[in-house]
Amino acid sequence: MATIRKALVIGAGIGGLTTAAGLLRQGIEAEVFEARPTPGRLLTGGGFMLWHNAFLSLRRLGLGIDEAVAADSVHMRFHEFRSDSGRRLARWHLDGPTEKSGAPACALRRSSLHKVLTEAVGDHRIRLGRRFTGYTQDVDGVTAQFDDGSTARGEVLIGADGLRSTVRAEMRRGFEPPPRYAGYTAWQAITRLPGESLVPTGTFFNLWGKGGLRFLYCRLNKTEVYWDAITSDRAAAGIDTLRKTRGAALAAAYRGWADPVGRIISSTDEGAILPVSIHDRPPSGGWSEGRVVLIGDAAHPMTLNLSQGAGQAIESGVVLADMLGRAQPDAVPGTLRAFESARRGRAGDMVTTSWRIGTLGLAHSAPLCRLRDLMMYTFFDTVARGQSYALMLDGRLERAPLRTAGALDHGAG
Ligand SMILES: Cc1cc2nc3c(=O)[nH]c(=O)nc-3n(C[C@H](O)[C@H](O)[C@H](O)COP(=O)(O)OP(=O)(O)OC[C@H]3O[C@@H](n4cnc5c(N)ncnc54)[C@H](O)[C@@H]3O)c2cc1C
Repeated sequence: MATIRKALVIGAGIGGLTTAAGLLRQGIEAEVFEARPTPGRLLTGGGFMLWHNAFLSLRRLGLGIDEAVAADSVHMRFHEFRSDSGRRLARWHLDGPTEKSGAPACALRRSSLHKVLTEAVGDHRIRLGRRFTGYTQDVDGVTAQFDDGSTARGEVLIGADGLRSTVRAEMRRGFEPPPRYAGYTAWQAITRLPGESLVPTGTFFNLWGKGGLRFLYCRLNKTEVYWDAITSDRAAAGIDTLRKTRGAALAAAYRGWADPVGRIISSTDEGAILPVSIHDRPPSGGWSEGRVVLIGDAAHPMTLNLSQGAGQAIESGVVLADMLGRAQPDAVPGTLRAFESARRGRAGDMVTTSWRIGTLGLAHSAPLCRLRDLMMYTFFDTVARGQSYALMLDGRLERAPLRTAGALDHGAG
C-alpha cells in the first residue's frame, strides 16, 4: 500500500510537535515550521497541568514520551477547591483515577513538555524563524509559503499555529470572526517559594473569591510554585498597573485572601508576571479544506478552566497522526474530514464545559458568591467530579498504540 511520504506542520507548539512525533513514528516524514526565531523563545512559558487523558494519548506515541514527561513533573494527588477565606469547598482525590486509568495527572513547566516533544521530533526537522503566510494546493499535494519568500511542498499541511492561526484565516480566505473573549485575564507566573507547609507538593489549589477573582496555584518542585490570578474585567478595573507594579496591584486586589495567596504574590519577580486575556472559539466545523487541516488551538481553542487546551491538542495530534499513518496519499482529503468527525464532538464538549465553568468565576456580589460556594460545597465532590471525569476519560478517548511500520530516525528520542 502506498503511504503518505511528507507532511508539513505549521507551528512547533504542543499540538504541532505531538503530531509530528506521531507521523514520524509511522514512517511519514514531517517538517515543522515555526515563526519564533530561536529555540530559547520556543521553550518559554509558565506552569501547566496535564491530566490523565493527555498522558494516555502521549503513551500511544510510544518512545517513552509519556514517561519522560511524567519524570519531569509533580504527580498530583489532590485537586482542592477553596473559598477566598481558605474554607475547603471540595477535595478530589486523584490516586483512584490515576490507578484506574493507568496514567497520572501532573503539574509541570511548559518548557519541560516542549523539550521532550522537541527531542522526539529532532531539532533538524524544526525550521525556526519561518512564518507561514499562505498555501496553494492541487490534486497531488500542498505548497506552503513563508514570509522569507521560501516555499515547501508536502502531501498534507497541518495548521497547528494556535489561537490566531494564519492557516485558519487562509483556509477561510481572509474572513474569520475573531476568537471569543471570555471576559477575564489570567496573570500567570512561576515564583521561587520553598516550603512544604506553605504550598504542599501534590495538591492543585483552585480558589474562588468574591468580586470576580480566582487564584490557582501548585508546587512544581521543591523550590518553585506556579500560580494564575484570574481577574474578571469588572475586577480588573480596580487593578491599577499605571501607578503600581503588577505585583503590587495584584497584591492589593487579593488583600484579605487567606494564606498563602499574599505570600505567593509578594515572592514573585515583577518580570515573571504575564497577563494573558482568555479566549476560545465556540465549537464549529470546517477544520479541513482538501489537504489542509487544523489541530489544537487553531481548531478548538478553549478557556483554561478545565486545564485541557494542551490535553486536547495532544489528543488531536495523536489521532490525526494515526489516521494519516493508515491513509493512502490520494485519500488525504477524506481522511482529514474523518479526523474532524472523530474529534469534533469531544473537543467541542471540552470547549463548552470549560466556558461554563468560567462564567461561574464572573460572579461578583458577596451573596451570589456565597451561593456559588454552597453549590460547590454540595456538588463538587460528587456531581461535578463525576462529570469532569466522565468527560476526561470517556469512550471517545483512543488508547491503542500507533503502528510503528517504517519508523524514521528520531532526533534524540
Ligand atoms: C493562562 C493559560 C493557562 C493554561 N493552562 C493549561 C493547562 O494547565 N493545561 C492545558 O492542557 N492547557 C492549558 N492551557 C491551554 C494551552 O496553553 C493551549 O491549549 C496549547 O498551548 C495549544 O497548543 P497549540 O500547539 O495548539 O498552540 P500554541 O501553543 O499556541 O502553539 C502554536 C505555535 O505556532 C506558532 N505560530 C503561530 N503563527 C505561526 C505562523 N504563521 N507560522 C509559523 N508558526 C506560527 C507559534 O509561535 C507557536 O509556537 C492554558 C492556556 C492559558 C492561556
